[in-house]
Amino acid sequence: MESLTIKRNILLNPGPATTTDTVKMAQVVPDICPREQDFAKLMKGLRSDLLKVVHAPADQYTSVLFCGSGTINIDICINSLVPEGKKILVVNNGAYNTRAVEVCQMYHIPHINLQSSVYEQPDLAAVEKALKDNSDVAVVYCCHHETGTGILNPIREIGALAHQYGAIFVTDTTSTLGMIPLDVVKDNVDFCMASAQKGLMAMSGLSFIIGREDIIKASKDYPTRSYYCNLYLQYEYFEKTGEMHFTPPVQTIYATIQALKEYFAEGEVAKFARHHRVYEAIHQGLSELGFQTAIDKSIESGLVVSVKYPDDPNWSFEKVHDYCYERGFTIYPGKISTTNTFRLCSLGAIDVKDIEDFFIVLKDALKYYNIKLVYHG
Ligand SMILES: *Cc1c(COP(=O)(O)O)cnc(C)c1O
Repeated sequence: MESLTIKRNILLNPGPATTTDTVKMAQVVPDICPREQDFAKLMKGLRSDLLKVVHAPADQYTSVLFCGSGTINIDICINSLVPEGKKILVVNNGAYNTRAVEVCQMYHIPHINLQSSVYEQPDLAAVEKALKDNSDVAVVYCCHHETGTGILNPIREIGALAHQYGAIFVTDTTSTLGMIPLDVVKDNVDFCMASAQKGLMAMSGLSFIIGREDIIKASKDYPTRSYYCNLYLQYEYFEKTGEMHFTPPVQTIYATIQALKEYFAEGEVAKFARHHRVYEAIHQGLSELGFQTAIDKSIESGLVVSVKYPDDPNWSFEKVHDYCYERGFTIYPGKISTTNTFRLCSLGAIDVKDIEDFFIVLKDALKYYNIKLVYHG
């Protein structure tokens, strides 16, 4: 297909991420009714490729697609996977785990909010104690990467504890899947999730849950708390018809299929290495300018850097954002309630050169607004 000339923006926000032109162009296809067998065939291939991304054995795991942003997966897993009379334990060290707690509250699902510092990884001993003290916990939940701070959580260890105490483990991998290698069996993951616009570098509108098929089948008899967002119903519809229950995001699915081709061509290890070198370039650029960061580097995911606002009164995130945005670079506000931060992320189809170009612009912005990188205390 003939390609258009599309302006390339460098998105340093935590998704949607910068995409390739080939992924953008994959959306431009002849009109098709998604109830056609041709389209069902495309989704079948997509569902099986998603399993490969997380090394999920096809005889134990399945993937279920949904139309919605990433939060729909959190909603669905929580409302669908807690049996009658049982509880969910949310291991909570930040904004995205708090979102899961809010879902529990909305559906009135019995839950334990095991809250800990947003500057640290969760304490495994506290997780174990909560499991020991609450034998009615059927689901343990924790996000892999707290996108709000950039902290990587020890999911393999949390998953092992969940299993030791007879619970299943659900992890929100929205901001790691397709970037940080994940092996659902080795990592003790029963359910993980993501949306197409982050690690897979496709478009927004398609989300998916990858999980244990036997548990989904068992969940048929669990309390139903939503009509549109029920995991078993969507799974059953896919199994019977190969289709989504309701209208799928057609063009996003085409883009995701192309993005997966590019994912497998780049390779899991090479892609991980690329995101990591972009992350290192972000840290280097920040430290050269004199910015301070909020999180201990040793517990960072390598995908998000939380940068502290300097104490100079001339500092204005909005002004610096606009200066960079007008020049093709998008920076993003922070999500730590106790410290003023902004975020720079290494998601998307970008490389070190893009980060070097960004820091030239950021340096110009600081000069233009006469901002000094001073920090008190
Ligand atoms: C991006 C993200 C989500 C989903 O956010 P949406 O705005 O609904 O796409 C969920 N969890 C984590 C950890 C994320 O980074």
